[in-house]
Amino acid sequence: MVKDKNISHLHVLDAVEKSKTCPLCDLDKASVQKHITDMLYESVNDRGLRKKLEKQKGFCAFHGELIVKHGDALGIAILHIDQMQSLLDCLDNAGSNLPKIKNTDHAGWTEHSGCAICEAGRAAAKRHMEVFIELMDDDIMKNYLEKFPGFCSNHLFRILEKLGKPDHARYLLKLHVERYKSLLADLKEFCRKNDYRFRNETSGRESDSWQKAVQIVSGKIL
Ligand SMILES: [Zn+2]
Ligand SMILES: [Zn+2]
Repeated sequence: MVKDKNISHLHVLDAVEKSKTCPLCDLDKASVQKHITDMLYESVNDRGLRKKLEKQKGFCAFHGELIVKHGDALGIAILHIDQMQSLLDCLDNAGSNLPKIKNTDHAGWTEHSGCAICEAGRAAAKRHMEVFIELMDDDIMKNYLEKFPGFCSNHLFRILEKLGKPDHARYLLKLHVERYKSLLADLKEFCRKNDYRFRNETSGRESDSWQKAVQIVSGKIL
């Protein structure tokens, strides 16, 4: 039992109790969304962030798309003034090195090795896993785990790698084999009912098994 639970413990317990899919994916995703909101509203003039973005050549493609969906036009515009200037400087440099463009330093513009949001997402994911592991012997957590939908494969393997107690690993492994087998049976039932001979049968819990299977195998986008 974890006495004196802090706010991180309560967040993780709440997610394991309430998430309809992998609770760690949901927590990681919420952290990334909050990081984007805070960054665009509070940190656009932060010199450290702007320097980092300039060095990393902006955001990776995935997080670039995500911040556009987020929609804070002014914050995004302010953050991209440096990026656009840097891109023009690089083209200027390339122009003076033609025809050997290979000699110019443009790697960051063609292949992104991760951005500030990737880093924040990784740090949040590490924190959430550590807090979950701290709570594994907690009675409330044990109670929630008996009913929760299970982790995605990504989070499951990463937690199994980090667990110090073999009993915890055995417990989580057994629980997830049961959950995943049940989902596999639902997937087969879903396919059977799509056969024209059985189409009149009413659909049951297998109806969203295809979405759950994708989430377990692929995780959620963060
Ligand atoms: Zn997950
Ligand atoms: Zn990224």
